[in-house]
Amino acid sequence: MPEWWSGGVRFTCIGCGRCCRGEPGAVFFTPEEEDRLLEAMEVDGRKLEKQEFRSLCVTLKWGRPSFAERPNGDCVFYDSEKARCRIYPLRPAQCVLFPFWLSVMDSKEDWDREARRCPGMNGGRFHSAEEIRALLAQDPFGPDF
Ligand code: SF4
Repeated sequence: MPEWWSGGVRFTCIGCGRCCRGEPGAVFFTPEEEDRLLEAMEVDGRKLEKQEFRSLCVTLKWGRPSFAERPNGDCVFYDSEKARCRIYPLRPAQCVLFPFWLSVMDSKEDWDREARRCPGMNGGRFHSAEEIRALLAQDPFGPDF
């Protein structure tokens, strides 16, 4: 049976930051993505050791390392004053690929559920089935996202 998205879908991120704040949610990262962040990040003019980074910015509450959240649910890297991601160029594939996650594309119901909170879905650029398939193949964590 063809995938429900075989005719393509529309999506363009409008940068509203809704997916970075409010509701708690796991943001997983690969070891390579963590190394990239450690290489680039500085706090008080110095680089963080991995252990410091883990204790300041990472939680294990989702079963594997994920970016921590503030008490209000915002991602630890979300800058609420500027309403943007502090590590945007280095954000993990999970953020880059949204909403082309296996767990979102699995069914039209899952897509519609996400679209209720993401104003970028169902509008903007057309993504063909070929493009969607290529994006899903990059999902580093599979359907448990
Ligand atoms: S909720 Fe959707 S439109 Fe808003 S920042 Fe996240 S991906 Fe972009």
